[in-house]
Amino acid sequence: MGEDDLKETTVMKGIGVSPGVVIGKAYLFDRRDAQVPLYKLNDPSLIAGEIRRFRKALRESEKQLIELKNQLSDLGGGMQPLYIIDIHIMILRDRKFIDRTIRNIREMSVNAEWAVRMTIDKYREIFDRMEDDYLRGRISDIQYAGQRIITNLGEKNLTVVEMGEGFIIIATDLSPADTAQMKIDRVLGFATDMGGKTSHTAIVARSLEIPAVLGLENITRSVQTNDDIIIDGSAGVVIVRPDPEVSKRYEEKKRLYEEAQDDLLDYAKLPAVTKDSYSVEIGGNIEFIEEIPSAIAHGADGIGLYRTEFIYINRKQLPDEEDHLANYRSVVGVEGLSWSTIRTFDLGGDKFFPNAQTSRELNPQMGLRGIRFCLKEVELFKVQLRAILRASDRGKLRIMFPMISGIEEILEAKRIFYEVKNELLKRGVAVGNDIEIGVMIEVPSAVIVAEELAKEVDFFSIGTNDLIQYVLAIDRINERVTYLYEPLHPAVLSLIKQVVDIGHKAGIRVAMCGEMAGDPTYTMILLGLELDELSMNPLAIPRVKKIVRGSTLKESKTLLNKVMTLSSSSEIRALVEATMQKRFPEEFQVNGQ
Ligand code: PEP
Ligand code: MG
Repeated sequence: MGEDDLKETTVMKGIGVSPGVVIGKAYLFDRRDAQVPLYKLNDPSLIAGEIRRFRKALRESEKQLIELKNQLSDLGGGMQPLYIIDIHIMILRDRKFIDRTIRNIREMSVNAEWAVRMTIDKYREIFDRMEDDYLRGRISDIQYAGQRIITNLGEKNLTVVEMGEGFIIIATDLSPADTAQMKIDRVLGFATDMGGKTSHTAIVARSLEIPAVLGLENITRSVQTNDDIIIDGSAGVVIVRPDPEVSKRYEEKKRLYEEAQDDLLDYAKLPAVTKDSYSVEIGGNIEFIEEIPSAIAHGADGIGLYRTEFIYINRKQLPDEEDHLANYRSVVGVEGLSWSTIRTFDLGGDKFFPNAQTSRELNPQMGLRGIRFCLKEVELFKVQLRAILRASDRGKLRIMFPMISGIEEILEAKRIFYEVKNELLKRGVAVGNDIEIGVMIEVPSAVIVAEELAKEVDFFSIGTNDLIQYVLAIDRINERVTYLYEPLHPAVLSLIKQVVDIGHKAGIRVAMCGEMAGDPTYTMILLGLELDELSMNPLAIPRVKKIVRGSTLKESKTLLNKVMTLSSSSEIRALVEATMQKRFPEEFQVNGQ
């Protein structure tokens, strides 16, 4: 187990006991060293002094242990205690232990106690993963030696979280006494190994309105203090060390959660029909099956996008067919959902793959990802297809392929799909007989050859996140170019219009499942374009439904027609925003109002 393994993204599922999303730094709370103070060294000149303080405490600790050893040997007891003391002395002299602690002081500008604490955490993480019980237990020697240094550093009576910024508390469990000694206003969320809906932590979290996921079983083994961490208390999901793409997605969820208003929930159960009776289907986008209840509660008619690559996210081993099947059986035929769209995994490049080191690509967004990866790793693809097909007799299933760039890819994907289906049928396995096959339209070339693609599929689903990225040549996770990421760019609107027109002419459904579908600013434009389905983050659904129900198709078309005559994004945005503000003043308040 190398240190790199500890840097991997990990997803854990537990019991969501207090809703909401929080993104922050982890603090591994351990009762045994709950009194370790933490403060920032605000001035770089303080660092050298802190390192001296640490070295002094090391010398002091060693002196004490040597004295203790002498006392014990004078008493003439057995050899065991002396041997243990020798080990503790060796730890105090260990170069790696010392260097790591000094590095913590330097690089993080924190006090020596905290730096020692972080070193112990690091060792604990490594020891926890050892197979051998005896070796794993040796962490207690490091903890003992570290605790002695901290005691000799001598600061007392400081509570857990003294730092200016907030923390997400990670613990085995938390008693009232534990939470009582925390600076609770600095706590952003909780994630614990034990506990459930009625535990003390759950009650505290709900009353403070901070997200919490409990019953995670071994979160304390997977997290180190200062790791980046996301808690989704609504879905009961915790993501440790998220990669930038996952973080971005959760920033959006957090924003939506914060914006969600209870009164909007009234719209969740109403159909998305305009005042002049144009109806659009509403899908929910999910990454984990745990999000399904939220999708239903927020008013999804079906699942418009299940991003199955998330099944791969924290695995050392590839998921097998049964792992896939267990997930798909929870998605297809669920009461409250009329259909479910499973997207085959959009995996590859450096996205979530277990042997990420071996598959690094310079430009993974344009690398071997999505369908390209599946068509290369056919066996992996077949495992997923078999599981999808085995779940298909449960209810209405749609399957779609990501990153299709031309006709060969869909033909080959379908060929493999039918090969797998026929094998299953031969074996007498029940398979749904009305599975719809679709492609994501997210590579510009797919728009250009859409007429050909339409002949091969039952539906299109426009992935605006990637489509915009590729057509405007903007890396969707690069903050420096986000200002250019414009769904209302005339080129983007024109591509979407082409896709809808071609799809409808061919008699197939056209959905949209990129983020654009869930932003109410664009709802009238998308109505005007006559998309058949909008699929979005479940939290966004009530507001979008409100806009749909307050609009007419006629006025939406008028707006779209005007927009299509404009040549710049800025003019289009100005017109769309002004229209939305005028039509829905409550939803689109001008700053300061
Ligand atoms: C998209 O590209 O718009 C999309 C929905 O897929 P993802 O965000 O997973 O790439
Ligand atoms: Mg995409």
